[in-house]
Amino acid sequence: MKYVSTRDASAAPRAVSSAEAILRGLAPDGGLYMPTEIPRLTDAELTALLPLSYAERAAEILSRFLPDYDRAALSDDCAVSYADDRFPGGAAPLLEFERGVHALELWHGPTCAFKDMALQIMPRLLSRALSMSGERRQAHILVATSGDTGKAALEGYRDVPGVRITVFYPLDGVSPMQKRQMTTQPGGNVNVCAVRGNFDDAQNGVKAIFADGALARRADEAGFFFSSANSINWGRLAPQIVYYVSAYCDLVRGGTLKMGEKMNVAVPTGNFGNIFAACVARAMGVPIGRLLCASNANCVLTDFIRTCVYDRRRVFYKTMSPSMDILISSNLERLLWLLGGPSQTALCMQALARDGVYTAPETTMTSLRRLFSGYTASEAETAETIRSTWERAQYLIDPHTAVGLCAVRQYRAETGDERPVVLASTASPYKFTADVLASLGRPAVTDDPAALLDALHKVSGTPIPAPLERTLTLPIRFTRAVEKEEMAGVLFGN
Ligand SMILES: *Cc1c(COP(=O)(O)O)cnc(C)c1O
Repeated sequence: MKYVSTRDASAAPRAVSSAEAILRGLAPDGGLYMPTEIPRLTDAELTALLPLSYAERAAEILSRFLPDYDRAALSDDCAVSYADDRFPGGAAPLLEFERGVHALELWHGPTCAFKDMALQIMPRLLSRALSMSGERRQAHILVATSGDTGKAALEGYRDVPGVRITVFYPLDGVSPMQKRQMTTQPGGNVNVCAVRGNFDDAQNGVKAIFADGALARRADEAGFFFSSANSINWGRLAPQIVYYVSAYCDLVRGGTLKMGEKMNVAVPTGNFGNIFAACVARAMGVPIGRLLCASNANCVLTDFIRTCVYDRRRVFYKTMSPSMDILISSNLERLLWLLGGPSQTALCMQALARDGVYTAPETTMTSLRRLFSGYTASEAETAETIRSTWERAQYLIDPHTAVGLCAVRQYRAETGDERPVVLASTASPYKFTADVLASLGRPAVTDDPAALLDALHKVSGTPIPAPLERTLTLPIRFTRAVEKEEMAGVLFGN
């Protein structure tokens, strides 16, 4: 199996190995890497996964997508990445909190958000790709973050050999807890720096560094090169396929489904990476019925699924599910490629870049609608979903997960399809304490992170995740703030 660009429509597309796809991130023509074929899992092979641990299932699935990686090395990497000390109580536990609705809790990792599922293992995959390719320079990972990704990347890359990481965050654009999480980050190869400006300033600064030839030469002379931990990298997508396969195994093992019976999947969606991973699991042969794509007020995907028109020219809303405040869902490109091939994908992406809008071909949309339904949750519906779930089931969910659950409820009311549904639960409610408290009708009067954790704990009686509590006791290591013109200097130690 090789990897090709989603925009390469030539008769013999340029194919690279999985290690190369992970090293490069983006293809040279601006497309995303996709495997030339999706490996199939037979019922017998799925059955063989049932007794395995999460780490063992992960090694089994990943080895099919990363054939040039050494199998034993993959097993080691999975064992370390998904061990109990990183994911206390298991990597992706399922919990049925409402009849037929199973939360797939993806937030038991070191930063309490689902990005950990990929970012705990991805740095190891990159590190191995570096040594397979004979690269002698260090990779210097640059991240601009609006909150969750930066912390998850820092935790994933800390003390990984051959790599260092610098995270830039907007000085006044992250929550007090997110800032605290990043500025206390331990590790010998990490750096964190605030930028005076908003998220776009930080993001544009990082893009400018990547595009600057003179900086690349200076880095080369200093023995490193710049690389990204972006969510369009296949090394972030592949590990996400695993938890959908694993959830199916757990439903069969727990007696909810017989082998071969289908589950539905609901995913609170931003960049379309998480739900696309579920789509790949389905293409592998995991019995999945419908994929419910849940959006907040930035409902560009719901509109797309319903109208065939992807239009980013619209008002941008800041919501209480900020990780889904996105108008360009980059990984949708992979789905377009899978359903319609490279020529039309390239055309759609050109139109999006040029005009901010495209209309997908009818044939592609017919296939897409056979798999996906799209739903939107307003801010009021999101808050109401948090509250009603707490009142009915004493189960506390974060605003992102609530958007997903709202989609489940709309879908069930509309179709009467009562098939068991796996709901991707993407963050701990303790990461969004102020909004969760307000949704429960108990708004907080403080923005002190410790007081907020305490308040939610008192209201709900649920345990505060240890990593968040620990953060509050760690010393602050990184206090530097720079102008956006000064960002490059940070990378060269001045
Ligand atoms: C990143 C993120 C999402 C969106 O996931 P995509 O893969 O970008 O669609 C949803 N919820 C949380 C908490 C996130 O951090």
